[in-house]
Amino acid sequence: MSQFSYQDGVLHAEGVSLAAIAEQYGTPTYVYSKAQLLANFDSYQNACAGRDALVCYAMKANSNLAVLNLLARRGAGFDIVSGGELLRVIAAGGDAKKVIFSGVGKTVAEMRLALEHDILCFNVESIPELHRLNDVAGSMGKKARVSLRVNPNVDAKTHPYIATGLKANKFGVAYTDALETYRTAAKLPHLDVAGIDCHIGSQLLDDAPLLEALDRLIELIDQLDAEGIHLHHLDLGGGLGIDYGDEEDSAPVPVGDYLGRVFARIDAWRKERYDGKPIKVCFEPGRSIVGDTGVLVTRVEFLKHGEEKNFCIVDAAMNDMARPALYQAWMDMQPVVQSKADVATYDVVGPVCESGDWLARDRALSVEAGDLLAMKTAGAYGMTMASNYNTRGRAAELIVDGTQVHVVRQRENPADLFALESIIK
Ligand SMILES: *Cc1c(COP(=O)(O)O)cnc(C)c1O
Repeated sequence: MSQFSYQDGVLHAEGVSLAAIAEQYGTPTYVYSKAQLLANFDSYQNACAGRDALVCYAMKANSNLAVLNLLARRGAGFDIVSGGELLRVIAAGGDAKKVIFSGVGKTVAEMRLALEHDILCFNVESIPELHRLNDVAGSMGKKARVSLRVNPNVDAKTHPYIATGLKANKFGVAYTDALETYRTAAKLPHLDVAGIDCHIGSQLLDDAPLLEALDRLIELIDQLDAEGIHLHHLDLGGGLGIDYGDEEDSAPVPVGDYLGRVFARIDAWRKERYDGKPIKVCFEPGRSIVGDTGVLVTRVEFLKHGEEKNFCIVDAAMNDMARPALYQAWMDMQPVVQSKADVATYDVVGPVCESGDWLARDRALSVEAGDLLAMKTAGAYGMTMASNYNTRGRAAELIVDGTQVHVVRQRENPADLFALESIIK
């Protein structure tokens, strides 16, 4: 059940009217539902109950400290892709010992920081990275736990910018090179070969490619085991899709169904080959934890009726929500207050000086200048991808909990944006 619904014709987040929020806090504003966030996390956590499993939230989807803190208190681990994200986990009260560090370009300073905090594992993506990590760990008198991100070469059938498991992607170690790379890793004295991982893409509506990737990892684990390299965990990455409300898309597989199939496959395999000895399983979900947790509330500035198109010009822009400009993503746009004004077809666009600055195209809307719109399902890859292009301060972020509203990030002021700059004397 969605925590965003119309009550007496006004869209609410839990028990709070988005019109009242816009009045009090201004626009554009991201509004998140605490109940939705926790329910989404629990759907993973419950499916893992009683197992040696860890849900490492991929925080690049939404890294607000309050979001991280709520998940940390629920037992979440975190999948990070930079040293900055590790510092966020710590600032949010998260446990660094439940952190997995992904990404193709980890710097020496980032490795050092992560080793100082004794993170759970580095997901290593290349041989040079193995050597760098071995050197850094050695210089600190430590051993780094590593997992190799293997590229299982399965087609996730998603947008090319978010498909990551094909041969032509920059991510991971090629499947055919994996054994050799593990042999190299096992010989390095300051590495502890702990696991294997993959992450094949994002917004996957069907779990068949994920299960195919699992089968390929299982094959490798068995081959490594035969060579005396015993892995302790298996990390399937993230990638499960969500329903953006686009009628052309089919509904995503429910989290519980997907995890159920994963564990059934793993249990059968462990029973057959390892006398039922379990293996720790990790997941790195991002979008499916936060996507439907948030909306972006924006106000209509002007309606502009052109010869070929009508434009609904709003105060949110591509700098607030980049997904349409970046991936041609379809995002649902709903009026905050249901209106009886005439319906027309609009492109919903922002004020930024780029033709790519659009949020929604060809939408039938009944709107007037001054009305509020809510971009739905905006909780993932919204605020984290926001920029200050055109010297636009980033939006405020709020979390609604029942009838309470918490400001979890203040709106940026223009002065904040040039505070680090200086003029040459
Ligand atoms: C982005 C990313 C994720 C999360 O992907 P979602 O599609 O948001 O679930 C998980 N793992 C890695 C390595 C990533 O880069």
